[in-house]
Amino acid sequence: MLFADAVTPSLAANSPVLALDLGGTHLRTAVVSADGVIGARDRRRTLTVRGADAVMADCADSLRQITQQHLAAGGQRPTALGISAPGPLDPFRGVFQDPPNLGRSFWELPIVDHLSSVLGVPATLERDTQVAILGERAFGAGIGVNDLVYVTVSTGIGGAVISGGTLMRGPDGVAGELGHIAVDMNGPVCGCGGRGHLERMTSGTGMARSGMDALEAGLDAPELARIAANIAPSPLEAHHVYDAAAAGDPTARRIIDTAIHAFAAAAVSIVDIFNPQRIIVGGGIALAWGEALLGPARDLVAKTAFRVARERVSIVPASLGDDVGLIGALPLVRLALSGRSTQAHPEFASAVTA
Ligand SMILES: [Zn+2]
Repeated sequence: MLFADAVTPSLAANSPVLALDLGGTHLRTAVVSADGVIGARDRRRTLTVRGADAVMADCADSLRQITQQHLAAGGQRPTALGISAPGPLDPFRGVFQDPPNLGRSFWELPIVDHLSSVLGVPATLERDTQVAILGERAFGAGIGVNDLVYVTVSTGIGGAVISGGTLMRGPDGVAGELGHIAVDMNGPVCGCGGRGHLERMTSGTGMARSGMDALEAGLDAPELARIAANIAPSPLEAHHVYDAAAAGDPTARRIIDTAIHAFAAAAVSIVDIFNPQRIIVGGGIALAWGEALLGPARDLVAKTAFRVARERVSIVPASLGDDVGLIGALPLVRLALSGRSTQAHPEFASAVTA
C-alpha cells in the first residue's frame, strides 16, 4: 500500500521507522528512531543475478529480522518503511523504472506495493540521492538549510535539490539529476547518450573509461599502461588512474585534472541556477579526494559565479557517510506523512497531526 491507502491509526510521527537502502551491490536495512538514531541493522549482498523476486524476498526477510531484534530489545514497533533505491524510479507510484544498476527483472517493479503488503506497513520510495539530501538536511551537513544541493561523486554522479524547503521532484520524479549537466559540448559520450556530461568526466566509471580509451588510442601513458598490464584481465578502475597521475603519468594527470575542472564548472552552474545556501558533496570519490575536489570548485565559484550567489554559498563535505540512505528514511517517511508528498492522503495526514 502507498501512504495514500494507509489507514493505520497507529502510524505516529514519533514512531521509529524501517529503512531499506537498496544498492546495486548491497542491500542494507535498519530501524531508525524518531531522533534519527540507527538501532537494529542488517546488510546483505544484492544478488541481482537471482532476479527481482529473490532480492525482494531478501529485503523482506532482512526487514522482518531487524524488526524482531528491535522488538526483542523492548523497542516500539516501527510503523512505516522508507526505501532508498537507485534511479530512475517513480516516487509517486512507488515503482522502479529501468534502473541500469539493478537489471532487467527490476524494470517496473512495484516495490512499494510489494513490501508494504508483505510487511503490513505503509511504505514510500525515493531515489537514493533524494533520500540522502533529506537525511543530510535532517541530521547531517544541511541542518536548518532551506536552499540546499546535494551531489554524490562516486561510481556515478547523482544529485538532489531542496529549494525553499521543498524537495524538487518534477512531474516525473527525475529532477535533480546533476550528473548530466553538460560541461563540454565536444566531450566524450556519457552513459546516458549525451555528450560531455559531468558524470562522463568525474565519475569513477567515467574516469576509468577515459583511462582505457587513452590506452587504446596509444596516448603517452607509460604508468597507466604498466598498471593496466599488471591487473589484466581486470579492467582499469578510477583509483588506478589516480595512482598513475600521482606517479607522474601525463595522460592520467590530464584525466584527473579534467575531472576536477569539470566538477568545478558544474558547481558554478549549480550556484547560478539554484542559488543554494549550501552544496553538500558526498560519495566515495568525494570522500577520498577531499579538498582536491572541493577546493578548485570553491575557487572557480568565487571567481565566476554570480556575485550575490557566490557570496552566500558554501561547498562542504557530506557528514553522514554510508548511513545516509538509512537515516534519510526517517525524513522521507515524515515527508510522506506531512501531506506535502503526493503519496500521502490528505485526510490521513491530518489525522496523524491531530
Ligand atoms: Zn549523461
